[in-house]
Parts: sequence; C-alpha cells; structure tokens
Amino acid sequence: MPIGIYIHIPFCRSKCPYCDFYSFASGEPQKEEYAKAVCRELEKWGRLDTRADTLYFGGGTPTLLGAERLCRIISKAREHFSLEGAEITVEANPSGDVSEQFYALKEGGVNRLSFGLQSAKDCELLSLGRRHTARDAEKAVNAAQKAGFDNISLDLMLGIEGQTTESLTYSIGFCKDLGASHVSAYILKIEEGTPFYDRRHALCLPDEDETSKLYLAACEELEKAGFSQYEISNFAKKGRESRHNLKYWNCEEYLGIGPSAHSFLQGRRFYTPRDFDGFLKEAQYIDDGPGGDEEEYIMLRLRLTEGVDAGDFRRRYGKDLPPRLIKKAKSLDGLVECDEKGIRITRQGFLVSNRVITEILSE
Ligand code: SF4
Repeated sequence: MPIGIYIHIPFCRSKCPYCDFYSFASGEPQKEEYAKAVCRELEKWGRLDTRADTLYFGGGTPTLLGAERLCRIISKAREHFSLEGAEITVEANPSGDVSEQFYALKEGGVNRLSFGLQSAKDCELLSLGRRHTARDAEKAVNAAQKAGFDNISLDLMLGIEGQTTESLTYSIGFCKDLGASHVSAYILKIEEGTPFYDRRHALCLPDEDETSKLYLAACEELEKAGFSQYEISNFAKKGRESRHNLKYWNCEEYLGIGPSAHSFLQGRRFYTPRDFDGFLKEAQYIDDGPGGDEEEYIMLRLRLTEGVDAGDFRRRYGKDLPPRLIKKAKSLDGLVECDEKGIRITRQGFLVSNRVITEILSE
C-alpha cells in the first residue's frame, strides 16, 4: 500500500487566540534552515524506497515558507519516494499576499489547496482574531483558480461568537459560489493553554444546544450546496474527498515530518516532539506504541459516514465483526445504523460521536 506524507510547517504571522497547533512567527533564515532539515528527513526516510500517493503540507501556514522552498521540498520528496499521481496539498491562509505563489506551486506539482476561511462574515473573523476578511479570501481563491487550481478546500468554523444558522448559511453559500470542491466544518474547541481558554468565561460562545443546531444546519446546507458528507466534519463534491485525510480514517500508513507531526508506519505509531531547534539539529521520532489493531480501526472508521465495512474488516483481520459489538451498535438506535454491510454512525450520532464510539468499543 502506498503511504501518505505529512509535512508540518510551523510558521504563522501571528497566533490566533484559539489555536493550539505548533506554530510561531519566524524570520527568513529560520525558514531556510527548516526547509533544509525537512529535505534531510525526506532523504533519510526515502531509503525505504516507498510509494507515496499523498503529500500534505499542513501547519502553521505552509505558504509562509514560500513557493520556492515548498517546491524544493516536493522535488526532494520526488527524488526519494515514488509520487506519481499523488495528491499534493498545501494549506494556505486566504489573504491577498499569497496569490503570487500560486503559479509557482502549480508548476511545482501542487494540485490541491486548502484555505482556512473559517467564516465569510467579517465580524465572525474578527472575533476569531483572524487577519483576513471575506473579500481577501475571495481574491485569494480567485487567484488560485486563475493559476489553474480546481481542487480547493475551504475550512469553516462552527460555534463562533455571534454565529447564527443564517450567518453560517451565508458562509456556506459563499464557499459554493466561490467554486470550492471541499469544505471542512469544525466545531470550535477551547483548548487549554490558548488565550481563548484564559478568557473562556468572558466569551459568549453558542451553548451546546446551539452548537448542535449549527452542526446539523451545516450538514443540511452543505448537502443542498452539493457537498456530500463523508466524515464527521468533512464534505466534498463527488471524487474530491481529501485522499490524504482519508488515510488517517482508513487506518492506513503515513509518515509525518516536522515538530509535532505524527506517523504510523510498519505497525508502529510515533511522533516528533514540539521542539523546533531540536528538529533542526536532529529529528527525534518517539515511539507511541503499536497501531492499526481492530479497536483502533473501528474507532477511526466510525468517523466516516461509510462506517466500518464488514467485508473490509474481514479482509483486514481475517474474521467477522464481533457479534457483541454489533449487538451494542444495534442498541444505540437512532445514533447508529447496523446491517450486513457494517456499522455506521448517523448524523445525530455524530453530534455525540465520542460517546457513541466509546460505548461501541466498550463491548
Ligand atoms: S493561522 Fe492557523 S495555524 Fe496559524 S495560528 Fe491561526 S489557526 Fe493556528
């Protein structure tokens, strides 16, 4: 099976108050050092002579590394892995100043862009502490399309201060009108250690019921706009699902490069610590135990609307889905669907997916 490659680019212009990804502001010399360190790691891992059918630059804000360095990393990956026909994604901030990079990225082999739009309402963007406006996003997406990108994903956030089903519907219409092929709609989570966490009592965020309504409205409106749900938070036009992210949910293998990146290779999970200088000197890969067992596979697959496929489970583990697990799934009526094809969580069930998955696996 081909693997996926994830490359973490830990640079951001400034820190959004809700974000706990590993990223910070930096200068050009640090970026150059980092690009060299990533190439060094690709060379090291490339000795495995493996095929990779997805390459994903996430962050942080990968475009801050600059198109020349990103393309250099892609060339290095091509030298050491077979990347033929690979989906190559770059995450980008939807601000005007990235536009000039798009031609070079396309030329370098990037065929998918993912923009952190979050909302098409400027007041919601302001409350999230984002630097771009809806107009900036429109310009950036138009520039990407002009450069030849037809596979564009936009991220939306649910549960923003002041967000209503009307404002969310407006943001979804905005994505559709811009010609997006994929939308991710994540519920805002207040993570410990972020400025939002410190101010959590002062924030006027939608409560649990309101957030549930926003989620269900997002699912409905996105379907109406032609985006089919394929994972709890992900929606795509036909054939435009994220091949890279599907690897995570299908419990397939991937190599993660960069501080905070996680990997799953040859049955083991491991990660690189959040230590930029340490990574520049010598990357650490910390063992995180075995991966890909039955329980983990079920847990990950249940995030997909397709759910756990009974045939696929049999092919992978050489046995049928455990009857006790099926019995438990059947008892969660309305939250889970269960038939001879397998087990799937319903949209209502996705609202409480963690609880549903825990209950199923408790059997
Ligand atoms: S731009 Fe993205 S990665 Fe960077 S701080 Fe904001 S949310 Fe986090």
